[in-house]
Amino acid sequence: MTAAIQPDLELAASLFDGLSRATRRGRGIVRDSYGEGEQAAHDLVRSAATAIGLEVEVDAIGNLFMTLPGRERRAPRILIGSHLDSVPQGGNYDGAAGVVAGLSVLAALRRAQIAPAWDTSVMAIRAEESAWFDVPYLGSAGALGLLDPACLATPRSDNGRTLETTLQQQGFDPQPIRERRRLLEPSTIRAYLELHIEQGPTLVAEGLPAAVVSGIRGCKRFRNARCVGEYAHSGAVGRRHRHDAVAATVAFLHHMETVWLRQEEAGADLVLTAGELSTDPALHGPSKIAGETHFVLDLRSLSDATMEAVATEARAAAARIGAVYRVNIDLGATSDSPPAVMDSGLRARLMSLLERPFEMASGAGHDAAVFAKLGIPSGMIFVRNENGSHNADEAMALEDFAVGARALLALLMDFPL
Ligand SMILES: [Zn+2]
Repeated sequence: MTAAIQPDLELAASLFDGLSRATRRGRGIVRDSYGEGEQAAHDLVRSAATAIGLEVEVDAIGNLFMTLPGRERRAPRILIGSHLDSVPQGGNYDGAAGVVAGLSVLAALRRAQIAPAWDTSVMAIRAEESAWFDVPYLGSAGALGLLDPACLATPRSDNGRTLETTLQQQGFDPQPIRERRRLLEPSTIRAYLELHIEQGPTLVAEGLPAAVVSGIRGCKRFRNARCVGEYAHSGAVGRRHRHDAVAATVAFLHHMETVWLRQEEAGADLVLTAGELSTDPALHGPSKIAGETHFVLDLRSLSDATMEAVATEARAAAARIGAVYRVNIDLGATSDSPPAVMDSGLRARLMSLLERPFEMASGAGHDAAVFAKLGIPSGMIFVRNENGSHNADEAMALEDFAVGARALLALLMDFPL
């Protein structure tokens, strides 16, 4: 009998429409963190939750909780979370799909008069996108007492107002952040679940509607790598006498590409990117050998050990190739964020709920990483999305969303923990 219960897709469609109407500015979506657009999205989902009959609560920093009460109210609850903000000129689904999925599932349970054993809350999380305040996971990390109070001085990228001022202007309270006070106690959270659109091309290429996320890749980034050689005349200096920073940098990056290939062949999870590479426009020229480059080497993996091994090889290669080219390749320090692996039990259960099971790593960060790193069992579902994300052309089919939402509902109805 319970197998007949389906997520409320009509509600989902009307929420996606409403969100698009309320927050589209020109071609794209603007749901600015702690601004008008994000607030409009919060107002919309809040009134939908009230109409469904969920309990509604807002914490001191503006995260919205919409709760279907369980039979045992004091038992740790399940959170279904995602963010409602977007990047400037973003798409309608990044973030919002997870909140809409949660509501479509709780609406179905409510209508079927099923009270779960414990509370289940949809958490509409504030300010996940660091485009507005350059602080990762503001809403979730703030709720869990993990933010450095210094972040309150961070200016918003468009209007320069600090986070502290912005919170106060929106009627919220910066004090818990100042005191690193938890608004959410990890021991009261049974599990954290998040549905999100996939932000890369994998599911489109695989022809699959949805996937289970194995984890969120960590990052080890050489942010300030430099190669220093000597500027010289391009015609006058032969190969053996050069200290060519560009030639050495290219050789180094090419070597790292082969390291990546070897890791991939060995089955390791790794992506490797040199997203910045430049010579100094004040000093370079068409008839000069370049004496200096600046570049970034960004390593990401689900495995700390893989990132560590590749970083070690990068340092060794920098010394070796630097010697060959008579330059100094100085990779500098790394900035590190550890990987967040999703709970193995939840992954297995979610895989069993997909008609065509497929598991993949997330290259982009999500609030789920914040919960997982605190040891809260966390699970994520990706839904196929055309044209990438963080742009106005995000396109998610409601049928694909339904596949993800159905898995979420089935998981809740027979929760493994
Ligand atoms: Zn997102």
